[in-house]
Amino acid sequence: MTVPNITLHDQTTIPQLGFGVYQVPPDQTAETVAAALEVGYRHIDTAQMYGNEKGVGEAIAASGIAREELYVTSKLNNDVHRPDDARRSFDATLSALGLDRIDLFLIHWPLPTRYDGDFVSTWRTLAEFVADGRATSVGVSNFQPAHLDRIVTETGIVPVVNQIEVHPYFTNEDARAASIRHGVEVEAWSPLAQGGVLGDEVITRIAAAHDKTPAQVTLRWHIERGDIVFPKSMSAERMMENFDIFDFTLSAEEVADIAALDRGEAGRTGPNPDTFDYIPA
Ligand code: NAD
Repeated sequence: MTVPNITLHDQTTIPQLGFGVYQVPPDQTAETVAAALEVGYRHIDTAQMYGNEKGVGEAIAASGIAREELYVTSKLNNDVHRPDDARRSFDATLSALGLDRIDLFLIHWPLPTRYDGDFVSTWRTLAEFVADGRATSVGVSNFQPAHLDRIVTETGIVPVVNQIEVHPYFTNEDARAASIRHGVEVEAWSPLAQGGVLGDEVITRIAAAHDKTPAQVTLRWHIERGDIVFPKSMSAERMMENFDIFDFTLSAEEVADIAALDRGEAGRTGPNPDTFDYIPA
């Protein structure tokens, strides 16, 4: 089973399927990531906010897998957007991961109502990490079309990815389309809506037709739309299930039927990035 690579606009490649560790407890992260690496995942998505970068680093170190075979992403926390704070926290991320280079580092949330509305200086700061070789690529997360337009216009630096909420109940087409227009790859977070779409009638029917599970059909739907996904699971069985999606395809009609489940804003499970202003204590 081969996971396809997506080529980013900086000509680096990212595995289209990875493993997310949001809500994986820090003291169980090393064993959970070790299990995911054992299944075959080579792309891990963590964040400063998740508090589990150290466990990710431990699993990587213990795995014996060559560094160049792994793709590691982390994200800047909401309390460290000021350039000097961002620089310090990036140092801490590399040290927690036990790496001298990260593949991808993202601004986790734009926080347009914080920091006097300035996420542009934060974005310029992330670009320093590419310039000094400690980040291969940098990108953003939860950026709405206006946020993307602004950083590209004001800095000329285009993020390689925009990691946004996307799943069958919230297809987030405006943010997806704005990303694609800028040449920015879409990473779909909560690709299963944290399990919320798995009982859906349409998805269940399509899954039965392919002798696959609803989770497999939902992940396959994302893959065929070209988005990058990293479902989370603590169970080795589900990790395997979610990895086993490259031996079937959906028809154009099935892809459209799943996209038609979109509920617009009502389908959003996470916060709206225009108003989200959470800063950790
Ligand atoms: P998800 O959509 O991946 O769902 C995970 C949950 O779905 C699991 O906890 C489990 O309950 C269930 N599940 C997983 N596989 C299953 C299977 N095969 N069968 C049945 N149930 C299954 O949700 P997520 O963890 O929120 O999102 C994935 C990743 O996206 C995160 O781990 C994180 O890396 C990233 N993320 C990023 C942001 C952001 O703001 N950038 C926000 C949320 C998540």
